[in-house]
Amino acid sequence: IIELCHVDKYFGPFQALTDINFAVRQGERVVVCGPSGSGKSTMIRCINRLEEHDAGTITVDGILLGDDTKDIRAVRQDVGMVFQQFNLFPHLTVLENLTIGPIRVRKMDKAAAEALGRKYLDRVHIPEQADKFPSQLSGGQQQRVAIARSLCMEPKIMLFDEPTSALDPEMISEVLEAMVELANSGMTMVCVTHEMGFARRVADKMVFMEAGRIVETAPPGEFFTAPKSDRARMFLDQIL
Ligand code: ATP
Ligand code: MG
Repeated sequence: IIELCHVDKYFGPFQALTDINFAVRQGERVVVCGPSGSGKSTMIRCINRLEEHDAGTITVDGILLGDDTKDIRAVRQDVGMVFQQFNLFPHLTVLENLTIGPIRVRKMDKAAAEALGRKYLDRVHIPEQADKFPSQLSGGQQQRVAIARSLCMEPKIMLFDEPTSALDPEMISEVLEAMVELANSGMTMVCVTHEMGFARRVADKMVFMEAGRIVETAPPGEFFTAPKSDRARMFLDQIL
């Protein structure tokens, strides 16, 4: 459902991605890890065109990513993304944060959008928070709202970029739990995270990046017990 072939990406003279080849099948869960600055965010941001790649091809759900804004809009409807920072609208209630996309983009009426919003708020186990403002929620709750907000667009693919790294430790597990449940529901997921417990539980495939390249791709069992590259072994030694 996602395919990157020979993708390069530059920021000015700096090459952030080099010859990235990466594929995700429908329903597959991929965890991307690697040192800071290795290009993890850049790679997943290319998938929904938050960044433009400079060479190679990216196909998402049959759409070849190019300059056509119609295609980009279509891809963004297919692909939900959750960031480290929750990016909720502070002046809107939780429920309004959830319904604004369905109403504005999917042209749903308010009642239908609210029903959808409540459904996904239930999914992330905070139905009672619907009428609060983001500032009244804990970080873990805000991140679960951000996940629910993405799900309200009913995406085919969910991208996560270090969704728990801005959270206090005691709130990490509630967000990971929501992500595990989403994985168990069959969602196609690409997750940049260093939460290796989560990776062991849900990943079908581990991708290790270093200096803008994919250095290793392996099933988690293999990756954690016998990484093929020294770089991956050193990285795992540091974080485990
Ligand atoms: P981290 O674990 O710290 O989030 P990362 O693996 O996500 O790191 P990226 O954010 O993808 O790394 O960055 C890859 C490289 O590209 C880094 O060297 C970074 O400095 C550079 N880079 C990223 N975004 C930009 C930008 N907008 N302009 C210039 N350089 C950038
Ligand atoms: Mg990053």
